Amino acid sequence: MKILVPVKRVVDYNVKIRVKADGTGVDLANVKMSMNPFDEIAVEEAVRLKEAGVASEIVVVSIGVQQAQETLRTGLAMGADRAILIKSDAPVEPLGVAKLLKAVVEEEQPGMVIVGKQAIDDDANQTGQMLSALLGWGQGAFASGIKVEGDVASVTREIDGGLQNVTIKLPAVMTADLRLNEPRYASLPNIMKAKKKPLDTKEAADYGVDIAPRLEVLSTAEPEARKAGIKVESVAELVDKLKNEASVL
Ligand code: AMP
Repeated sequence: MKILVPVKRVVDYNVKIRVKADGTGVDLANVKMSMNPFDEIAVEEAVRLKEAGVASEIVVVSIGVQQAQETLRTGLAMGADRAILIKSDAPVEPLGVAKLLKAVVEEEQPGMVIVGKQAIDDDANQTGQMLSALLGWGQGAFASGIKVEGDVASVTREIDGGLQNVTIKLPAVMTADLRLNEPRYASLPNIMKAKKKPLDTKEAADYGVDIAPRLEVLSTAEPEARKAGIKVESVAELVDKLKNEASVL
């Protein structure tokens, strides 16, 4: 079985986001970019399924600017076999990404697609669900466990207040949640080997799908700064302030 893992290049999770002065978006100049953390988990899961003999090939795919190649190389260093970069200088919204991924699925015919549950830049949490709908495939969203037997996957899903176990007929789309696994660090020899693995570059326009944006960003703003707290001397003072100043008791 071939597994397709879409990986997005996003602002590194350690970076403190700066909003552009004119409020049109987030400042990306000289900012460290990395693979979306949930996509690292998705790649790790695919690599584990390959190590377990369930998967035979892992293809990573990214839609974005030329530098998204680096994100793909990270995926290759973690253990993916091949990469596809679909170049687009303009950001592509989840619906556009899902349409492009559908076209890649039609070409590549994977038995499973594992996406991250959400990209930490726009926090959309839409692409996996839209892709499964466009393909007419089942979906295992928010997966914290995936086991494959024949053409059926048993998936543990993280839901409010607990875990849900479902079986899904393959091919299907999975979306990786935080507790699915702990991704490995790529070793130096594997980073070197990844430089020689195949990476195909295509243009988004080659796929002939409509990826025009449907959304217009009206404004972007920093969250309001939190006011400094105070220290109280006693529980009695705390209760007094909660009652008489904050009026929450
Ligand atoms: P989102 O729906 O934007 O929160 O993204 C969910 C998941 O879809 C991500 O974790 C990625 O696996 C995939 N994805 C979203 N955008 C892209 C992109 N531009 N290139 C590759 N994969 C993407």
